[in-house]
Amino acid sequence: MSLNHTQIWQKCLIDIKKNVDERNFNTWFKPIRSVKLSDKTLTIQVPNKFFYEWLEEKYIDLLGKALFQQLGSGAGLQYQIVVQDHKDIEGNYQKTIEKKLKSNPYLKLFEEEFNNDLNLNYTFESFVEGPSNQLARNAAISISKNPGKSSFNPLIIHGGVGLGKTHMINALGNEIIKANPKARIIYTNTERFTNQIIQALRDNNIFDFINSFQLVDIFIIDDIQFLEGRTKTQEIFFNIFNYLHQRDKQVVITSDVSPKDLKGIQERLISRFKWGLVTELQKPNLETRIKILESKAQRDQLKLTPDVLNFIGYNVKGSIRDLEGVLVSLSAHSTLNNRVIDMKLTNEVVDTFSHNLDKELSIGNIQKIISDFFGIPIEHIIGKTRKRNIVIARQLGMYFAKTMTDLSLKQIGKQFGNRDHTTVLHSIKTINDLLDSDVLFKDTFNKLEHKLEHSLIKSYF
Ligand code: ADP
Ligand code: MG
Repeated sequence: MSLNHTQIWQKCLIDIKKNVDERNFNTWFKPIRSVKLSDKTLTIQVPNKFFYEWLEEKYIDLLGKALFQQLGSGAGLQYQIVVQDHKDIEGNYQKTIEKKLKSNPYLKLFEEEFNNDLNLNYTFESFVEGPSNQLARNAAISISKNPGKSSFNPLIIHGGVGLGKTHMINALGNEIIKANPKARIIYTNTERFTNQIIQALRDNNIFDFINSFQLVDIFIIDDIQFLEGRTKTQEIFFNIFNYLHQRDKQVVITSDVSPKDLKGIQERLISRFKWGLVTELQKPNLETRIKILESKAQRDQLKLTPDVLNFIGYNVKGSIRDLEGVLVSLSAHSTLNNRVIDMKLTNEVVDTFSHNLDKELSIGNIQKIISDFFGIPIEHIIGKTRKRNIVIARQLGMYFAKTMTDLSLKQIGKQFGNRDHTTVLHSIKTINDLLDSDVLFKDTFNKLEHKLEHSLIKSYF
């Protein structure tokens, strides 16, 4: 059943009342009368022109948000101003200002994207519990019951690659939706968030972008370490973060290093993170590894004997991603090559797998792939040439060495022609700047990144 204009306006008022103090509410909202509703545009009557101007200046966002919540995207607002001593032709003491609510492009975008990007397969049920993840898991579950209201705000989950951060935050989001399908969750990752900001800045829409977060109840953002060196994105994130936090909206963040080790991120942002709960996902112990293997094997309908499970559990000690890699590989061998999954096959797979793990993490490998990709000899990449294309290839090498291996800046510099760690840092910053400013470069970057990642996947088999 659709509501009439009076009912819509009453609902708006309830919303507005939560956001202004009583005195302002009585002064600026009580005197408003709703007049009509047509085509999602609500007409309200205000006592005079000054009143209208004041609303436009001080409260337009609030009005817009309230209307949006009732009417959805395309909501409009029109004012009717009472004119004191002048009758118009129809004898009304009114003048209508055709002042349409400026439409915020992000409101529509957000409306469509709420809850959309959550991965439904990532739930708490499919997340195997163990000492390595217990604290984070309990915190996430507790937040899902009461988002924004606990002292775990923000919740920061950090831990190495493949230890379950993305899984956990999706499970958190999905759990909230289960209890409250109307909750408005924005789930995103730092790459995507940055791209949206770049686009908004380019389109002169950044304030609309920030304002649209008024609608958000829960903001979940993955892989915050990629904010490194992105000053503008950080600044905007900081604004949004403060806005949400002040209103008890839940913020959930992941990072592959602990907040105190985040590099190239403003101190004021990092100190905000400490307001909530910082919790770590660690590498799973043997028992948990085996439980995870069992659960994944069951999900994939893969029959594994206890010997096989134990063998993998004992030998693959890295991340859960690694455990999955072995299972994928085993399943490929058994279905594609028609082999029984016995100890012999498992042994081979685990062996090549660990071997490849060592290989793929080397800087030499990254340098080789970059060299092939650009057709530049490795000697030049690590050499002294200042030719622009070679410098870029070199900087990309250092960038990927940092993001794809566990080596320190110092170790990376050393392997790139004995450069020092500040050169490596500078390279990372340059690459990030280019990514922010140059679409063509970004395209090349993506292709190269794909190549590097693909080389990892290939070596699983
Ligand atoms: P991260 O984001 O930390 O790099 P992911 O969340 O992508 O890691 O996890 C990697 C893979 O391991 C995913 O497929 C995920 O489902 C799985 N995984 C991680 N932790 C667990 C767990 N405790 N139980 C079951 N599966 C897990
Ligand atoms: Mg992840």
